[in-house]
Amino acid sequence: MALIVQKFGGTSVGTVERIEQVAEKVKKFRDGGDDIVVVVSAMSGETNRLIDLAKQISEQPVPRELDVMVSTGEQVTIALLAMALIKRGVPAVSYTGNQVRILTDSAHTKARILQIDAQRIQRDIKAGRVVVVAGFQGVDEKGNITTLGRGGSDTTGVALAAALKADECQIYTDVDGVYTTDPRVVAKAQRLDKITFEEMLEMASLGSKVLQIRAVEFAGKYSVPLRVLHSFQEGPGTLITLDEEESMEQPIISGIAFNRDEAKLTIRGVPDTPGVAFKILGPISAANVEVDMIVQNVAHDNTTDFTFTVHRNDYNNAFQVLQGIAAEMGAREVIGDTNIAKVSIVGVGMRSHAGVASRMFEALAKENINIQMISTSEIKVSVVIEEKYLELAVRALHTAFELDAPAGNTAE
Ligand code: ADP
Ligand code: ASP
Ligand code: MG
Repeated sequence: MALIVQKFGGTSVGTVERIEQVAEKVKKFRDGGDDIVVVVSAMSGETNRLIDLAKQISEQPVPRELDVMVSTGEQVTIALLAMALIKRGVPAVSYTGNQVRILTDSAHTKARILQIDAQRIQRDIKAGRVVVVAGFQGVDEKGNITTLGRGGSDTTGVALAAALKADECQIYTDVDGVYTTDPRVVAKAQRLDKITFEEMLEMASLGSKVLQIRAVEFAGKYSVPLRVLHSFQEGPGTLITLDEEESMEQPIISGIAFNRDEAKLTIRGVPDTPGVAFKILGPISAANVEVDMIVQNVAHDNTTDFTFTVHRNDYNNAFQVLQGIAAEMGAREVIGDTNIAKVSIVGVGMRSHAGVASRMFEALAKENINIQMISTSEIKVSVVIEEKYLELAVRALHTAFELDAPAGNTAE
């Protein structure tokens, strides 16, 4: 008999029929003798609908009130699932984040979990109940409702599994595991049996939304056995694992991640004196804008060009700050570009193989795709390209690194 935390995402609870199907699935596990804690997301589209409503009142809604509202989506699904379980004769009880007491900091819309009170849930489990917990939400020390950032129900699932010392955390979704890249973009993507925490962390942070990055961080930190599975199809899914097998079969690249969430800013003709980077990025960071990739060109005529990327949501803010800096520093001009995308190759196999980056650049060159920026780490290489070439780039890299599924064995 095991204790399993099962998290079901938005599409898996998108209709009443699907919620009934989820209840059937949970019942089957429980009939098999397992103790089950379920975490659910809001019905698909609901969180977006709520955010849109708020934006009709104010372009930048007050974060505290936004959290009060968006957290309601999950409150609906926990109640519906608990009802569906009880209807099937399975004792069940639903709790909001506040009722469990999932304590977070007060960073509304992107709060971090600080502590989970496991006692109430443990009492219910002992009494034979399935506990259904609202994902994505918590409560701060002062009793304010908080949310954990988009995709945050994954993190609730993993954090609960850690707090309850569960035997496994199962993330059920609308794909049957983690793929070499988003199977909705590359039909030849292949499901991975296993991926290391380190690789999954890079994939998530570089744009693969199949798991929220904080969920992967949590799972790695507390060694929570984590598996991604399809909600309504049988299969082994993908295990996120700690061990890095040193086998000959180890692929150099495990996956390709991408995102369209960034924008690029360039300040041109900056007088090249010591402290340039600080003078530019100091005020940007003071304006609470996070910077991702950075390139500073070699100086000529005693001036330099400085380029960096930020989240698209921060673009207007960053542009304004940069114009102020440009005027102060006597720079020539500020240019912005929101039509960019970032593509990254990820794999622990890179550590033991040379020439991975050049193979990536060659594949992009063959498709005539211009690389605007590059950044590397031990297990990833990222490039910024023009957004319209994104899908072509991902497909070309998928083929170049021999990740394509054999013919007749594709996801779609
Ligand atoms: P849920 O609502 O269940 O949390 P998400 O939409 O957040 O589901 O995540 C699942 C989606 O992640 C898939 O439908 C898929 O399009 C996308 N995705 C992106 N990258 C990958 C990948 N490498 N492997 C699998 N799915 C991926
Ligand atoms: N409902 C939230 C969202 O759409 C949380 C989640 O689905 O994980 O982002
Ligand atoms: Mg998700």
